[in-house]
Amino acid sequence: MSAPTQTDPRHDGAHDDGATFPPPPEFVADAVAHEDLHEAAAADREAFWAEQSRALLDWRTPFTQTLDWSGAPFAKWFADGTLNVAENCLDRHVRAGNGDRVAIHFEGAPGDTRRITYAELTADVQRAANMLEALGVESGDRVVVYLPLIPEAVVTMLAIARIGAIHSVVFGGFSAESLRARIEDAGAKLVVTADGGWRRGAVSPLKPAVDEALTGEGTDSVEHVLVVKRGGNEIAWNDRDLWWHDEFAKAEPEHTPEAFPAENPLFILYTSGTTGKPKGIVHTSGGYLTQAAYTHRNVFDMHPEKDVYWCTADIGWITGHSYVVYGPLANGVTQVLYEGTPDEPKPGRWWDLVDAYGVTVLYTAPTAVRAAMKAGREIPEARSLETLRLLGSVGEPINPEAWQWYRQVIGHDRTPIVDTWWQTETGAIMISALPGVTKLKPGAAQTPLPGIVAEIVDEEGNRADPGESGYLTITEPWPSMARGIWGDPDRFVETYWSRFPGRYFAGDGARLDGEGDIWVQGRVDDVMNVSGHRLSTAEIESALVGHDGVAEAAVVGAADETTGQAVVAFVILTAEAAEGVDRDATTAELRNWVGTRIGAIAKPRQVVIVPELPKTRSGKIMRRLLRDAAEGRRIGDTTTLADPTIMATIADLM
Ligand code: ATP
Ligand code: MG
Repeated sequence: MSAPTQTDPRHDGAHDDGATFPPPPEFVADAVAHEDLHEAAAADREAFWAEQSRALLDWRTPFTQTLDWSGAPFAKWFADGTLNVAENCLDRHVRAGNGDRVAIHFEGAPGDTRRITYAELTADVQRAANMLEALGVESGDRVVVYLPLIPEAVVTMLAIARIGAIHSVVFGGFSAESLRARIEDAGAKLVVTADGGWRRGAVSPLKPAVDEALTGEGTDSVEHVLVVKRGGNEIAWNDRDLWWHDEFAKAEPEHTPEAFPAENPLFILYTSGTTGKPKGIVHTSGGYLTQAAYTHRNVFDMHPEKDVYWCTADIGWITGHSYVVYGPLANGVTQVLYEGTPDEPKPGRWWDLVDAYGVTVLYTAPTAVRAAMKAGREIPEARSLETLRLLGSVGEPINPEAWQWYRQVIGHDRTPIVDTWWQTETGAIMISALPGVTKLKPGAAQTPLPGIVAEIVDEEGNRADPGESGYLTITEPWPSMARGIWGDPDRFVETYWSRFPGRYFAGDGARLDGEGDIWVQGRVDDVMNVSGHRLSTAEIESALVGHDGVAEAAVVGAADETTGQAVVAFVILTAEAAEGVDRDATTAELRNWVGTRIGAIAKPRQVVIVPELPKTRSGKIMRRLLRDAAEGRRIGDTTTLADPTIMATIADLM
């Protein structure tokens, strides 16, 4: 391929070999979403959302008002309606006669399994709701959840929702200090944790981080710590600590769900912190659940009576909230929940799970796809994977090579792939193909979903023409939009609504192609300016990964006396290429490779071969740290890295 630059006028946005993928006819025949969805939304957007909400959710008090935007940018959706979020995810499916349907096929990292039906999950959540109420948790109270990816995590989130309290899930990989800061910011009354979780054959303790966090400043609001026994590891015990199994056994089994206003806060979730200090993003109930259910159903083509869905995200991320907990359960779908990593105890575990549970729809991140590519296609090729019919991607732009590999090797050249763009702040998917409608282009998120209006604009806020790139903005409010930053309304306005008045600006750059499709290029902070040319890191990375010897690449712009900024590339070689590598020859070859693929202007000043890239615990590359290294600065804050030691290694290789 020859990834063109943003300014290349010949570029129509399609993958360079022209490959596009229309929906397979057999898929279209049975698809949930058709073209008329776009038409209905275009005809009357608000009426469309109201209709979706009534169709997808059970309202206790039906709403009469759809959107109140008078307090913009703080929206109210369906404000005079009332509902119970947990009842929508559980009880109503049981009442509809689907209590025996499996809600969760749980597989623990060590191989223990649990099969939980909707009736069982409903019963567990009812009891857990009573348990929380017995501990004094009331509607509006904040509960911090710091758990492994086990069924109790889902039960806890839904039990909190059921009583109208607010959860704030903190990813189990975060440190005691990150946890402390979030407990303090949220003013949590209760922390739910586990003794430990399983990871790569060993127990990784969680409770000690809670103990340490609670010795820190600003955590006096916490009255109890509820501890799930999972790892069996020895832990210290304090007066405030309670075992989950003791309290759960004591609790009453039946719980009547109260109806809460649509704008009742449902959760606070701190963004992953790729760009700076994490923000406590607030989401509410009716609008959030509407769009989570709507997108889950239409983007993933959900047929609840026959699909087995698997989203590999941890519940500590927004993807785990919307597409492990709320979307799938609101839709009454059967899903897989897996505690461990893709390759434990040996490579291929994920693909074994796909075969074991008959997974039909798989939703994961480009970083996982690239890791699988690096491990080699013979691993998935040794499995059947016949049940898969649709694949999804989220978290970063997916480079066309990874997209093609994902489709060919995992999808057997048959499955559509939906590349879904959205953020913690948007609450649910915003831009994505619809698998039964859209002609797919590898590497592009493509179309705003029906009901969403997105526009790419230039510095002055003027709309981009086809072929141009600029800033990705959303022009109309949407049901699952964030309602603010916890405790800091000014920061919400300042961060998202001030750059382009009247528009939500997401921080991402994108290009519009000749057919009106959107290509997300990543964060605008990551766009470089080399001798006056705007170059996107994503495009150069795509070119590098297109080389047979490169498994992964990250590109940054480093200050340069002559060109303003210069391209510096960090690459991980494939196992074969790394063997006995001649570093100088390889880096020279890769520089020329980019030069011929994109143009001399994009040729990296330096290519650094590294063993690993600095990634957050959600798998995203932290380019700001690589920029520090490339510019010879002291390396910035590495505390949210999956492997905090990697930057020292990389700095040594510069
Ligand atoms: P922080 O806001 O704290 O820096 P974060 O932006 O990484 O953290 P998330 O809300 O989890 O936290 O991620 C949203 C971002 O992920 C988007 O703004 C975008 O940059 C990227 N992203 C997500 N999905 C896609 C996609 N399909 N294509 C391109 N980029 C994507
Ligand atoms: Mg962000």
